Amino acid sequence: MGKITGPVGCYGPRYGSTIRKRILAIKLKVKGQKCPKCYSIDTLRREAAGIWICKSCGIKFAGGAYIAQTIMGKTLLPEELKSIKERK
Ligand SMILES: [Zn+2]
Repeated sequence: MGKITGPVGCYGPRYGSTIRKRILAIKLKVKGQKCPKCYSIDTLRREAAGIWICKSCGIKFAGGAYIAQTIMGKTLLPEELKSIKERK
C-alpha cells in the first residue's frame, strides 16, 4: 500500500480505503450544497442530524446527518416523507 495523501490523509490507514473514499466524497459534497427546492447554493443550514433548513426559501427537509443530499439516494421533501408515512 502506498502512502496515503490528500484531504483524507489525516485518517491514516484506519477505516479502510473504501471508507476513506466515502469520507472524501462527503467532504467534497459539503461545499456548494444546493437547496432541492429553490436551488440556491450554500443556503442550507443543519438544524439537527438529518434535518436541513434552507435560509432562502425556508424549506425544511430530511437529508443526511452531515450533508444535505445523502449518497444513498435523493433527498426527501416534506411532501414525500408524508406520502411514505401514509403508505405504511
Ligand atoms: Zn431553498
